[in-house]
Amino acid sequence: MINFETPSVIERSMVMMKMMAEGMIRPISRQYDENEHEKPWDYINMVWETQKPMNKKNLDRQLGRGKPTEEKPKEKKEKRPPIGYMLLAHVVEMMSWGDAAIYLCTPDAGLGGTAIEAVGTPEQKERFLTRFTEGEPKWGAMAITEPGAGSDTAAIQCTATLDPETNEWILNGEKIFVTSGLMAAQESDGFVVVWATVDRSAGRAGIKSFVVDAGTPGMSVTKVEEKLGIRASDTASIVFDDCRIPYDNILGSPEVQDRKKTKGFKGAMQTFNASRPIVASSAIGVGRAAFEFVKTELEKNGVEFPYGAPRHKLTAVQRDVMDMEAQLKAAWLLVLRAVWMADMKMNNPVEASMCKAKAGEAVTWVTQKAVELMGPLGYSRKLLLEKWMRDAKINDIFEGTGQINKLIVARRILGFRSAQLK
Ligand SMILES: Cc1cc2nc3c(=O)[nH]c(=O)nc-3n(C[C@H](O)[C@H](O)[C@H](O)COP(=O)(O)OP(=O)(O)OC[C@H]3O[C@@H](n4cnc5c(N)ncnc54)[C@H](O)[C@@H]3O)c2cc1C
Repeated sequence: MINFETPSVIERSMVMMKMMAEGMIRPISRQYDENEHEKPWDYINMVWETQKPMNKKNLDRQLGRGKPTEEKPKEKKEKRPPIGYMLLAHVVEMMSWGDAAIYLCTPDAGLGGTAIEAVGTPEQKERFLTRFTEGEPKWGAMAITEPGAGSDTAAIQCTATLDPETNEWILNGEKIFVTSGLMAAQESDGFVVVWATVDRSAGRAGIKSFVVDAGTPGMSVTKVEEKLGIRASDTASIVFDDCRIPYDNILGSPEVQDRKKTKGFKGAMQTFNASRPIVASSAIGVGRAAFEFVKTELEKNGVEFPYGAPRHKLTAVQRDVMDMEAQLKAAWLLVLRAVWMADMKMNNPVEASMCKAKAGEAVTWVTQKAVELMGPLGYSRKLLLEKWMRDAKINDIFEGTGQINKLIVARRILGFRSAQLK
């Protein structure tokens, strides 16, 4: 049964996260928005240093390692349900309340790590993720989108060919709009998880994911985007030109078992069940920043918010602000359900897409309302409201656009396959 109380361990972490978001992230928000290709190195290095021991503990737990059993008999503790994704959702929401783009600069295995968690073997999890605890790498990225394949991931053209002589995969193709692509592909700083096809004629069944270490010859960053929002985060184009990687860097099975079945592809798609609720959490953090700012400003100017009063007795401004809050809370409840299911290892594609679609729409609307309600001041660069409005829209685009996530929900609820409902 889902429990709506926030676990105390999360509440405690949030006290620290709020201090960090308020004291470290928010103050540098404007600076790194204005200077798009600069990196907040002070913040990155500080987080990296403090994060290392935490990473190690978490990974040991995930990989079933730990201290040798102590001699004295342990008291039997009540088994607590896992809260990994639940905690992550809260952390990301709070950091994005500080600044969503700077949150994306935080050293982390990122979406690449989520992919390895979702489809990697225990040996691959150990090999690729443990390195995070040992100093390098610092960033993971996920490269799916191509010039001719965005929403339609099955149209991927990037190829992975096995060289039987050296037993290496050779990657060829171009990936665009890779979040943290520059950081992850830079020499010794990270890895990129790349989706490529081992057999174009097999369609979806031929698509597999591969881990490419930073600095691998044949992988190069060809462009860093200039963007509307989340400007502190780098978004890169990466070209693979006869890029050779070890055979064991394929995630999951290399076999294209049955051309009609898409088991491998479905495995790769599972990554989204974990990542979409986290993107939704980030969206809600941005929305909450805008909502709280506006509500506080209006209260300072004597506007009251009589919760429970009949709607027809409210002013337009009161109604707008209450609707902003309701939209964000509705999206957050959907996130909680999706991450709770992920923690329980339940299949959650509908819930993951639902919360992502709702949060993307909610944050776009809420931040626009916030600018509108503050008038010219909302539009001015003096405040962060205009920035939050720019940062909001990406949540309705990456990790599946709003339309695509709604399509996924509709297919699942109505029982249609993708070929039947396009
Ligand atoms: C800042 C940024 C960061 C990104 N980070 C990453 C990343 O880390 N890794 C990565 O792989 N990609 C990333 N992307 C790419 C992103 O995931 C894609 O842009 C997105 O999936 C949409 O694909 P597309 O751009 O090709 O648009 P298209 O698929 O061409 O879609 C264009 C429009 O048509 C709509 N549409 C398409 N098909 C349908 C349909 N069947 N029904 C209704 N509407 C439809 C879409 O919703 C959209 O509005 C990023 C993009 C941006 C802007």
